[in-house]
Amino acid sequence: MLILTNNEGKSGIGETARLLQAGAAGLDAIEAGVRLVEDDETVRTVGRCGWPNLLGEVELDASVMDGDTLRTGAIGGLKGFLHPVSVARQLLQRLPHELLIGEGAAHFAREIGAEAGDLMDERSRSAWRRWFLAEVTQADQQTWPDVALEKYCHNAIDPEIGRDTTVFLALDANGSLSSGTSTSGWGWKYPGRLGDSPVIGAGSYADSRYGACACTGAGEMTIRAGTARAVVLYMKMGMSVEQAVAEAVEDMRALKGGLISRVTIHAVDKHGNHQVTAVNGLPENHYWLWKEGMAAPEAFPAHIVSISDDEPQKKRVAMTVYAQ
Ligand code: ASP
Repeated sequence: MLILTNNEGKSGIGETARLLQAGAAGLDAIEAGVRLVEDDETVRTVGRCGWPNLLGEVELDASVMDGDTLRTGAIGGLKGFLHPVSVARQLLQRLPHELLIGEGAAHFAREIGAEAGDLMDERSRSAWRRWFLAEVTQADQQTWPDVALEKYCHNAIDPEIGRDTTVFLALDANGSLSSGTSTSGWGWKYPGRLGDSPVIGAGSYADSRYGACACTGAGEMTIRAGTARAVVLYMKMGMSVEQAVAEAVEDMRALKGGLISRVTIHAVDKHGNHQVTAVNGLPENHYWLWKEGMAAPEAFPAHIVSISDDEPQKKRVAMTVYAQ
């Protein structure tokens, strides 16, 4: 048994480990752990208190994948509900679909009685307001929100650099692998922008025959490289988990233009070996791991590799002033 989460998974991993140890199925344990992160108000990139989009609204993305059946449930751009991971889980169990977005996702959330709530707090409201007053032209402020948003979305950011989405990967007592993700995506993103967290194959993938993978950071990069599916496929083709992740990093070197920033790739194989590599990562990038036999989850540093300079990142980093 094993549970691996990124740095933001700290508030959930203990409960996930406890449930796994008690014999719970991996997906049940993951859902319970991710819900705790969604509830954690100090994690401002997942669930309630996540940073808003350009229009000052929090849009949540989440997904789950069952590695035994290859069934998935993913939700994109969900507004007004506190636990997108549970909406994604119910989608997997009840609908003949794999991904719901926006209004349709909210309709389904209401239909299943998902817990509704205000996703903003005073801090995120005033951060957005300060950004609006400082960065939006006078002319656009007059006609807001009926303006061209393109010029404002280039500095979309995770305002607390190095903190992001949460991702969970589990290997349960039955040898089943599963994955879960949840995020508010990039702060100040274009409304409707989906990252990789709800895109199965990019931000996560689990196949109990081979392994599982989930990514955090610039979803724009893992969508283009098909990273999570690629890592699992490389394991199917015979690579170790370490080689598979290294190969997926090589794939990223081919990305030209667009948003090139940080990505952390978290992967496990069916035997419980793991690899966490932070592409353009920061020294503080770490992950949490609990394995059968460990008294409690522990944090470990990610392996850091660099693939390119990220010049536009400097302006985005400067945006963090609004998150203070
Ligand atoms: N991967 C997430 C996204 O692209 C963001 C993050 O992990 O910081 O929406």
